[in-house]
Order: sequence, then C-alpha cells, then structure tokens
Amino acid sequence: MDAFTQEMEQKLLEAREELLRKLNTEGDDFRSEAQASSGRGDSSDLASDEGAYRKMEALNAMDAKKLKAIENALKRISDGKYGYCLQCGKKIPEGRLRAIPEAVLCVDCKAENERMSGN
Ligand SMILES: [Zn+2]
Repeated sequence: MDAFTQEMEQKLLEAREELLRKLNTEGDDFRSEAQASSGRGDSSDLASDEGAYRKMEALNAMDAKKLKAIENALKRISDGKYGYCLQCGKKIPEGRLRAIPEAVLCVDCKAENERMSGN
C-alpha cells in the first residue's frame, strides 16, 4: 500500500469512528427524550415527537449512507482497488480523493450516474 492510500485509509477510519459515535449519541438522546415524554397521556405531544423522530430518521439515513460509502471505500483498499473508478476503472485524481476519501467513482461516472438516476 502506498503512502497516499495509507493516508486515505486513516482518514476513512477516523470518519467512520466519528459517524458511529454520532449515530450512537443521537440514538441515546432520542431514547431518553422519548422516555421523558412518555406516560403522560398527552396526545398533543405525539405530533412533535413524531416530527423529531422523522428528522432524526432523515439525518440517520444520510449518515448511514455515508457510513456505507466509507465501508465500501475501506473494502476497496483491502482489495487493492482503492483510487480506481468502480465503473470505468480509470484512476481517480488524488485531489478528488483528498476532498472525498470515500469516493469510488471518477467525476465523469459520478455525473453520469446522477443523470441516469435523476438526482
Ligand atoms: Zn469512471
């Protein structure tokens, strides 16, 4: 493994740690909040609880997606394929990987994928 890949692996591992910690902390906060507001039998609280839950779910979905991308990139490192586009096999520029260490597609393929999936 070259120095650059090693550096990116370190970045990815740190980002994964941070995400896992964040996901755990948010989960705990939500649980204690839900516990505190339960058992009062006040139905007007339900709506706001649901709103908070939805918000957290959306946040978690985003973090979970990023976490998956990071896991994927780490797997590419262990497979010795890190830094090469998953789709066309071309080398991904180091500048792009420094900005987004979990990137597994080159800019061209990413743009093409986004166009095809409509977002
Ligand atoms: Zn590509």
